[in-house]
Amino acid sequence: MPDQPLLLWFRRDLRLADHPMLAAALDSGRPLLPVFILDPETEAIGAAAKWRLGEGIATFARALEALGSQLVLRRGPALEVLQALARETGAAGVRWSRLYDPASVARDRQVKAALRAGGLSAESHAGHLLHEPWEVQTGQGGFYKVYTPYWNAVRQRPVADALPVPKRLPAPAQWPESDRLEDWRMGAAMQRGAAVVARYASVGEVAAQARLRGFLDARLERYADARDLPGVEATSRLSEHLTYGEITPRAIWHAGMRALHEGVPGAEKFLKEVVWREFSYHLLHHTPQIASENWRNDWQSFAWRGDSDDAERWRRGMTGEPFVDAAMREMFVTGTMHNRARLIAASYLTKHLLTDWRVGQAWFEECLIDWDPASNALGWQWVAGSGPDASPYFRIFNPATQAEKFDPDGGYRSRYIAELSTAPGPEALGFFEAAPRRWGLTPKAAYPAPMIGLAEGRDRALAAYAARNA
Ligand code: FAD
Repeated sequence: MPDQPLLLWFRRDLRLADHPMLAAALDSGRPLLPVFILDPETEAIGAAAKWRLGEGIATFARALEALGSQLVLRRGPALEVLQALARETGAAGVRWSRLYDPASVARDRQVKAALRAGGLSAESHAGHLLHEPWEVQTGQGGFYKVYTPYWNAVRQRPVADALPVPKRLPAPAQWPESDRLEDWRMGAAMQRGAAVVARYASVGEVAAQARLRGFLDARLERYADARDLPGVEATSRLSEHLTYGEITPRAIWHAGMRALHEGVPGAEKFLKEVVWREFSYHLLHHTPQIASENWRNDWQSFAWRGDSDDAERWRRGMTGEPFVDAAMREMFVTGTMHNRARLIAASYLTKHLLTDWRVGQAWFEECLIDWDPASNALGWQWVAGSGPDASPYFRIFNPATQAEKFDPDGGYRSRYIAELSTAPGPEALGFFEAAPRRWGLTPKAAYPAPMIGLAEGRDRALAAYAARNA
């Protein structure tokens, strides 16, 4: 029956533009019923990501309303919710955009099989990536484990044009009941940090497009030279939007390619970074254990330290190593962290503090509003040395010399560390506003002494590495 609606199950695809699932659903000519489900898998994400997701849902719901539609909110296991909604509305089937992390894949497989067994149509679509992870293959038909050949393989691959924004979404004759977003309390675990991070978050599809345009117009040209300087606004800051699907990598790819053809200097470097995200998903698909296990088997015996008071000082931005602490505080205040700072903070934890990369991975997952299951896992394993195409373990970043090189005027460190500044600014003070009260931190206290000498930490890490190889 053509008037039976389709349920559109939105997850990390909170946009109207360039949306293959939405376009295919519109082609069916059926009424469309958008739904967002707060299921146990979504409940389980980190505090900051969950808060930011709530903001994204609110913005997306308004965008749908402007097209004569709505976003129905329901809470519970996805399959049960979809089956109940199908019964209530007489829906013909369910459509969604694919996700690739192990928890989502397991859920979606089960949902698809059960819906089909129950006589509903169930289809998943691409959209989160430039290329489906299984589409890119080596000459021997395997998957890539090294970035540069992967880049060489995808740089020439055709990418279809982005799809336009629909003008209207056909509504069902009746709307089913919806939860109220406020009742979901998406920011609850953030406590007082939410109000601080909200000052820096950029939410929704319109904001994503504006960020892309602003970056192309003002910053792309200098990207290759300045992208490593955390004190300079030189990168696109699109990761937050990519995480929730508020913009597609395809839209970014075409914009970057146009700039490349126009000869803009930073364009190729930028496209290569976008492809690091693809590569992360390629690896997550082919080796899902990358999210939780040392990717290289020979790392299983490494003498990582587990969680400890030292790791807690790292989490609190109180190591006494200014570049590391600035990085950790940047994340706490803004919900994101500059890529160079992620490298330094991760290296310090896994090398100088000899701590298992999964301790850091979990804290990033808790605090990042751009948390991405693939890029976070690959980033940590890359720095730790346990991952594919990783930085060798013995290459240990020295945070002091890295600071001299990448933050030569100290602007980044003083922006985030109140104790090192005579007139701390809003970011430095924001850290003390956002930090949990039980941490008992005040900007008036003296900045802590380094918790470990840099040479001592380095020697300890190298000794552990030598023992592993002995
Ligand atoms: P730009 O420099 O403007 O790059 C454009 C886009 O390319 C980014 O938005 C991102 O999608 C992609 N990209 C850039 N660098 C990388 C990279 N090294 N790996 C994968 N994709 C990249 N990125 C996340 O999006 N979420 C995470 O949870 C995350 N965790 C990380 C953890 C560690 C330990 C490390 C070392 C890196 C992590 N990254 C993560 C990658 C990277 O730091 C961010 O993507 C980047 O800082 C986002 O800023 P931007 O959007 O301004 O990037």
